[in-house]
Amino acid sequence: MAAKVPEIALLFWVVKLLTTAAGEASSDYFATHSKAIGAAVEIIVVLVGVLWQFKTRRYVAPAYWFLALAIATTGTGVSDTMHLVFGIPYGGTTFIWIITLLGVFFLWSRTEHTLSIHSIVTRQRELFYWATIFATFADVSITCPEEFQKNMGTANGGSVMSLVLAPAHKLMNMPNEVITGLVMKDIHERFPKSRQAKLLKSTIVKIPQSVYKAVPDVDQFRPDQISPIKNFFLAGDFTYQRYLASMEGAALSGKLVAEKLLSRFGG
Ligand SMILES: Cc1cc2nc3c(=O)[nH]c(=O)nc-3n(C[C@H](O)[C@H](O)[C@H](O)COP(=O)(O)OP(=O)(O)OC[C@H]3O[C@@H](n4cnc5c(N)ncnc54)[C@H](O)[C@@H]3O)c2cc1C
Repeated sequence: MAAKVPEIALLFWVVKLLTTAAGEASSDYFATHSKAIGAAVEIIVVLVGVLWQFKTRRYVAPAYWFLALAIATTGTGVSDTMHLVFGIPYGGTTFIWIITLLGVFFLWSRTEHTLSIHSIVTRQRELFYWATIFATFADVSITCPEEFQKNMGTANGGSVMSLVLAPAHKLMNMPNEVITGLVMKDIHERFPKSRQAKLLKSTIVKIPQSVYKAVPDVDQFRPDQISPIKNFFLAGDFTYQRYLASMEGAALSGKLVAEKLLSRFGG
């Protein structure tokens, strides 16, 4: 039997990257519609891939890459099932796949006395080769966590809270841990049940001057929606209206423009 694997050149890595990404995205896509049908499709696809690849007598690009894509898809499905159905954390699935990989390498080198990919010329070596690929491809996490968030929180099974703190000038120089502590205290006071929740991760983005601060005597500088230029009207949160600069203020300014247009041009 001739060698059945491609040469490791630049193009190999390009196609490998593409099949890995496509496989992960496909698996996540299948799972969003029906996990059972998704699993069935993945099993069928990998079986077809194995049959096709093992039927060839030498390296045939479509057969090789079809199986690579099928393994990327099914491998993702297996890891996600281990995590989402059996509750094994991704750290645990990684550990399982590393042990599997070491086991494959051990058996491969013990029986064949080589791990060289240039020597994939027997069925047995080919089996070890694809088992290695499966163990490495399967160790992937969810690529589209937002799809999973629709049904079950984040990829790690939790919830995400996004909060805007404004005005925040007093918080700007505080360390992130202190700000997080203050926010958690606030959340616990307002939602007592949240005290049972565990904060897994937090990120703070500070944007000075992003939100306006209400200070006395500045309202006089806000322009009216009717500008001094003929037929030129202004809408925006900065224009004079009874709210602060906010989305409500921006919407209200648009309503004021419409009213002022109507009163000027009739209707
Ligand atoms: C981080 C942050 C958080 C906020 N959170 C809240 C909140 O929770 N609740 C709330 O009510 N408000 C919030 N606001 C304020 C709210 O977003 C603004 O008040 C509102 O979006 C203003 O709307 P606007 O239409 O007046 O102006 P903008 O939304 O700023 O629209 C102005 C548009 O004009 C464009 N523009 C500017 N110059 C030019 C040019 N020369 N030519 C062409 N286009 C131009 C800009 O790109 C922009 O798209 C927040 C603002 C920030 C920055």
